[in-house]
Amino acid sequence: MKFEQYRISEEIKRSLEELGFKKPTDIQYKAIPSILNGDDVLAIAQTGTGKTAAFAIPVLHMLQRQRTTKIPGQVKCLVMVPTRELAIQIAEVFIQIARYTKLKILGLFGGVDQDPQIKKLEKGVDVLIATPGRMFDLINQQHIDLSRVEILILDEADHMLALGFIKDIRDVMKFLPRKHQTLFFSATIDKDIKDLAYSIVTNPIRIQISPQDPVSKNVTHSVAYVKMDDKRFFLERMAKEFPESKILVFVRTKVRAERVFNAMQRVGVETLTMHGGKEQDDRLQVMKEFKKGDVKILIATDVSARGIDIPNVDYVVNYDLPDVPENYVHRVGRTGRGVQKGKAVSFCSDEEKPVLKEIEKFLGKEIQEMKIEKDEYRETISFSEDTPNDNWQLLIDQHENSLREQKRKKKKR
Ligand code: ADP
Ligand code: MG
Repeated sequence: MKFEQYRISEEIKRSLEELGFKKPTDIQYKAIPSILNGDDVLAIAQTGTGKTAAFAIPVLHMLQRQRTTKIPGQVKCLVMVPTRELAIQIAEVFIQIARYTKLKILGLFGGVDQDPQIKKLEKGVDVLIATPGRMFDLINQQHIDLSRVEILILDEADHMLALGFIKDIRDVMKFLPRKHQTLFFSATIDKDIKDLAYSIVTNPIRIQISPQDPVSKNVTHSVAYVKMDDKRFFLERMAKEFPESKILVFVRTKVRAERVFNAMQRVGVETLTMHGGKEQDDRLQVMKEFKKGDVKILIATDVSARGIDIPNVDYVVNYDLPDVPENYVHRVGRTGRGVQKGKAVSFCSDEEKPVLKEIEKFLGKEIQEMKIEKDEYRETISFSEDTPNDNWQLLIDQHENSLREQKRKKKKR
């Protein structure tokens, strides 16, 4: 079924069309009717499957049928998110989909001046997307009134739990009216998340997309065995062979991120880095550049990239394998978003083989190997513009050639 055939307002259909959303993703297909029906929903779907629009579309449609709120501080729909980046990103999705409606959307987060936020709140807000810190500040200062909230949405619930926001989630319940609709979205589910979900939702409709495989079906992922010291050559080769592709590279630490950045710079490959050591503003700037595609390669650590939607990432490269198996899923889920297809490859060194085993255990299956033939491996190294290895490479080649020559001579005789 296409969005055209949905019972949603013309204004929303129009913006979906402009966004290039023709038909719903699996999670959207399953969640939208229940949400429109007024049910509580507990939705689990892999990262990149379009969860944001799965709640934004029906919620905007429902709110549109009411009068927009003009009461100072009043909020009709509250979306709680763990990070500032997510608040911005999700607000953007709401704003895009609501473009032709009169609904008022506000993304609220700390680290910036609160006065402009207060000004917007004074006019009343239909959808507030907020991180807990700033939201509680403004509730205490009586700039936010949650007593009329009709819909509460917890997005990236697993991430919220991991970051220790559980108390905030429970606290916010005290400000909400007893009767409200709750939508609970998460990429993964375990006992803690289930406990939390069932403590805040009533008789939810539970929707889960292919729970057996935590990796979205739109992502083809494989592992290549590469020596630790050779990884940079393989990244260099990818960058030069696919200059038009957007590549998101994951490394273990911020030190590693800068090291890979330098290695790429030496061979004339421009990259960006994103890690916890960077200031918020820098991080937003980097995301902007990468999203726009000015620079095609972003080197990131796990924390900095969780839940973030970057359109059109063609390749995810696990330059280092993640220490936490679950992060594998979050990383490769940065590609193949929505209805697109994506590819991911992990560079696994000998030292990392036990980690790979852990990841495969978590996935419940083996990751397909991307075989690199010996010649190809060598070629990749000599392909590099990083000169120090050239002499050494030459020596190896010469040595092997002479061995081959000797063998041939022996055979002839
Ligand atoms: P999730 O929250 O599940 O990780 P997002 O909501 O961030 O995923 O969506 C991932 C990407 O998919 C976004 O770039 C979004 O624009 C795109 N997308 C979502 N729904 C659709 C759709 N129905 N058709 C095409 N693209 C979509
Ligand atoms: Mg999401």
